[in-house]
Amino acid sequence: MFNLILFGPPGSGKGTQSEKLMAKYGLKHLSTGDLLRSEISRQTSLGQAAKGFMDKGQLVPDEVVIGMISSALDENPHATGFLYDGFPRTSAQAEALDKLLHLKKASIGVMLALDVSEEELVKRLLKRGETSGRSDDTNEQVIRARITEYQTKTAAVADYYHQFNKVVMIKGEGTIDEIFGELCKEIDKRINR
Ligand code: ADP
Repeated sequence: MFNLILFGPPGSGKGTQSEKLMAKYGLKHLSTGDLLRSEISRQTSLGQAAKGFMDKGQLVPDEVVIGMISSALDENPHATGFLYDGFPRTSAQAEALDKLLHLKKASIGVMLALDVSEEELVKRLLKRGETSGRSDDTNEQVIRARITEYQTKTAAVADYYHQFNKVVMIKGEGTIDEIFGELCKEIDKRINR
């Protein structure tokens, strides 16, 4: 079971690249943002609890997202691998994921970290807001809050995987296909197919 973390700030292209990686490698896509938005649209109690944080650009509490990932892993016992997108976003989430994978005799194969400048991120997110229907993409203040959450809480997750030599930085600016090519090169070095 191959476990890939696609890492990077909001707007760095994780969603776009995940679609392509899923199609090429047959990995199961686990996006905590998508899972949370699905909970909100189904008006579950989990969704209702998460919405207030998301509207403000703040992270949802760890136990909520860890529970969601744990269920998703259990629901896909035969998956050949997982692509984590938007998770883990805190060191506590990273440690919890390691424990969950350990129980399944698995571990993280690699973290691919997309690097994009802050001004480019804001530009992309505002543009995405014109069509995505996501309220957190239309307000520049909420966008900046998400980037601040990333810098203060999430960036440290890369340090966590760094100690195990599992982080590879990828330039996240360029064409979608160029970036995809760089990601595939790193995956092909590590995946058994
Ligand atoms: P983006 O990366 O563009 O901000 P996401 O869809 O990944 O978009 O996340 C949207 C929001 O969902 C985040 O701002 C946050 O409130 C919440 N969220 C998503 N994943 C997590 C997570 N792993 N931990 C805490 N909150 C999360």
